[in-house]
Amino acid sequence: MPQRPDKAQTLLRCAVPVPVRGYLDYLPVSGNEALPVTGGRILVPLGSRQLVGIVTDILGSTDINPAKLKRAKVYLDETALIDPNVLRLLAWTADYYQHPPGETLVLGLSPRERRGEPPANVQEAGFDLTLRGQGLSESALSRAPRQQALIVALRSGPKTRAELRALGFNSDNFRALTARALIEPVDIFADKNWDWRAPLSANTHQNAAIEAISSSLGQFACHLLEGVTGSGKTEVYLQAIADALARQEQTLVLVPEIGLTPQLLQRFNERFDAPIVTLHSGLGNAERDRNWHAARTGEAAIIIGTRSAVFAPMRSPGLIIVDEEHDISLNQQDGLRYSARDVAVKRAQLSGCPIVLGSATPSLESMANATSARYQWHRLTKRAGGAHPPTKRLIDIRGLALRAGLSPQLETKMTEVLSRGEQVLLFLNRRGFAPTLLCHDCGWIAECQNCDARQTLHKKPPRVQCHHCGQQNPLPKHCPKCHGHRLVASGLGTEQTEQALRKDFPEVPVYRVDSDSMSGRHAMSTFTQTIEQTGPCIMLGTQLLAKGHHFPKVTCVGVLDADSLLMSPDFRGEERLAQLLTQVGGRAGRAQKPGEVIIQTRHPEHPIMTAVLEKDWRSLSAQLLSSREAQGLPPNGALAALRCDSANPESGAAFLLAVINAYQGTSPDLSTRLVGPLSAPMARRAGLYRSHIVITGPQRSRVHASVKALVAIASGQKLPKGLRWFVDIDPSEPL
Ligand code: ADP
Ligand code: ZN
Ligand code: ZN
Repeated sequence: MPQRPDKAQTLLRCAVPVPVRGYLDYLPVSGNEALPVTGGRILVPLGSRQLVGIVTDILGSTDINPAKLKRAKVYLDETALIDPNVLRLLAWTADYYQHPPGETLVLGLSPRERRGEPPANVQEAGFDLTLRGQGLSESALSRAPRQQALIVALRSGPKTRAELRALGFNSDNFRALTARALIEPVDIFADKNWDWRAPLSANTHQNAAIEAISSSLGQFACHLLEGVTGSGKTEVYLQAIADALARQEQTLVLVPEIGLTPQLLQRFNERFDAPIVTLHSGLGNAERDRNWHAARTGEAAIIIGTRSAVFAPMRSPGLIIVDEEHDISLNQQDGLRYSARDVAVKRAQLSGCPIVLGSATPSLESMANATSARYQWHRLTKRAGGAHPPTKRLIDIRGLALRAGLSPQLETKMTEVLSRGEQVLLFLNRRGFAPTLLCHDCGWIAECQNCDARQTLHKKPPRVQCHHCGQQNPLPKHCPKCHGHRLVASGLGTEQTEQALRKDFPEVPVYRVDSDSMSGRHAMSTFTQTIEQTGPCIMLGTQLLAKGHHFPKVTCVGVLDADSLLMSPDFRGEERLAQLLTQVGGRAGRAQKPGEVIIQTRHPEHPIMTAVLEKDWRSLSAQLLSSREAQGLPPNGALAALRCDSANPESGAAFLLAVINAYQGTSPDLSTRLVGPLSAPMARRAGLYRSHIVITGPQRSRVHASVKALVAIASGQKLPKGLRWFVDIDPSEPL
C-alpha cells in the first residue's frame, strides 16, 4: 500500500526528456511560495544531471512516498510556453504512439527553449532598408551584384530572413549590408497588417470548397480537398486563409518537404501582406527559435512548416492545412514515429478549428474517411486556368532495345518536344550509376557489410555506397573473390542515364535532380528558378522531382522504371505506385500546352497500370480500397508493430518471444492478433538485426490496449546488451 503523502504536500508532475515511460514527480522548489505554471519549464535533478522538464500537472498527492521525491531546482517560466491545447496534443501523441512522454513533450519547445534559455527575441526577424539604403543609386553596388539584388528586393518593403533566404540571399549578404548601414534588422511582424490582395475569381468547384471551409472556421471540421494537379487547390487554401486572417486567426500549413516551401512561400507572399514564417530543418537554429516564438506570440499570421511544425505554438489557431497529405515524408520514421497528418487532425479537434487535407492522390485512409462522410469531401476534377489534362500512354518495353533505360518511342517523343522549345521531365527512382556491381567471372556482388543490401555504384565521385546506412568504399580494382578484372555495372541509375542523355541530346541542357546533386539548403529552389528561365531542357530525377513543383514548360514526362514499386514487399506498394504515376503525370502541361505522360513497363497488363491510364483517383482508390478490405489491411482495422533492433542475430527474436509468452499468460484480448517474431524485410540494417511483432485487429482501441500491455511487459524485461525496442503505430515502413 503506497503511503499517502501529507495533504498539504504539493507535487509537480513533469515530462523530462529521458526514455522513461511515464511522467516524473518532484517537490516544489524549497523556500518558494509561488508554484510553477503548467506548460512552463522547470529545472529538475535526475541522477547526477540537471534537466529541463515541462510541468504538466500540479497535484495534491501521488503514489510515491514524498520522502523519496527530489525537489525541483528553479522555475524557468512565468507563463506557459506550451499552451493547454498543445499540452493535451502532446500528451495524446505520447499515449497514442506509446512513446516516452518526456521525449514527446520537448517537441513543443524550440531548440533554445529545450536548453532552458528564454524564448527568442522576435525583434530581429527581418531586414529593412535604412534611409541610406533607400537613397542608394541603381548602380552603386554594381560590383557586388548579390548585395545590389538584396537592396532591390527590399525596395518593396521589409522582408523576413526566411523570405530573403528563399530568394537566395544568405547571412554574408545580410552582414555586408548591415555593416555598411544600408539595411537594418527590424521587427518584421510588428508593422505588417494582416491583409491580402485580390484573389483569382474562383470557379464553381473551388467556390464550393472555399465556402465549406470558411463557414466551418471557429469549429472542428475535417475537409478532404481531392483535386487533380493544377486544379487550383492552392488557390482554395489561399482564399480560406484570407478568411481566417479576417477573423484575426492564424493558419498552420504543413508540407512534406523543405524543397516545396520556397515555391509555396513565394505564392503566399504574392497574395498576403501578412507576416509569414517557416519552420523546417533547413533553417538555422536562431531563425527557427525566432519563428517558433513569433508563432506563439501571434505575430506570425501564417506558419508554413514540415512535420514537426505540427507541434508549433499558436496564439490563435484558426485553420490547419496539410498539403500533399498522402506523402510519406509527413511520417517521422525514427524516434517518435508519428504521422504529422494524423496528429494535425487531432490538433484541429483539440483547438476547435477546421483542417484541410489536400492532395491529387489522397491516402486510402483519407479516401475511406471521405467515403464514409467522416470528412467533408471536395473534389476539383478539372485543371484551373484552362490547362488540359495530360494524355497518358504505356510503352511495353519487353524485348525492346533500351538505351540507358530509354525506349526508342520515348526518345522520338523527346526529340519532338525539345525541337518545339518545350521541356522534358524523366523519372527514375534510383540515384547513382548502377544499383549493382558484379563480377562477370564468378558472380560476386558488391554488398554492404552492415546491411542486407547491395552497394550502389557511383561514378561522381567514384565509389560503391549503401543507400540504407550510407557506408561507402572505394571502387574495387578487381574482384575480391576471384581476382578477375571484369567487374560490370548492372541495372540503371540516374548518373548513367544522365551520361547517355548528354550524348544523345548534346544541344540541350540536362539536369540531374537527386539527393546527390541537390544537397545544400537552397539547391532545389535555385534549380526551380533556373528551370523557369531556361528554354528546352531535360530534367532527370528521383522522387524529388515528382513532388508538388511547378514546371510550366514541361510537356513530356517519361517514367523509366514504373515496375520497381510493383515488386515492393510493402502492402502499400501499389498505392504508392498509383500515387506516383498520377503525381508525375501532374508535372506535365501545367500551362496552356497539353502534356503527355509515357510510362515504360514490362507489366502493361497489370491492373494498376491499366487503371492509372483509365481511371481517376476516386475509382482507382476505390479499387485499391476493396483489395485492402479483402485482405483485412488498413484502413480496415488497426495495425501496429513492436520492433526490435539488436546487435546479436538471435537476441531480438528471443526478446520478442519472451514478451509474447508473457503477454499470452495475461489472458489477452482475443480480438487482436499477434504475428511474430518476424524478420524485417531488410533483416539487417546498419549493423543491426531487425525483427518485429505485428499486432492487428478490427478495432483500433482494442489493438491499442494490447500494444499497451505489450509495452508494459517489454518495459519490465531485462534488456540484453545492444538491444533496443520501440513501438510503431500505424507503421509506414514495410512489415
Ligand atoms: P494545385 O495546387 O491544385 O496544383 P494551383 O492552385 O497551383 O493548383 O493552380 C494551378 C494553376 O491554375 C495556377 O497557375 C493558378 O494560378 C491557376 N488557377 C487556380 N485557380 C484559378 C482560377 N480560379 N482562375 C484562373 N486560374 C486559376
Ligand atoms: Zn569474381
Ligand atoms: Zn548499408
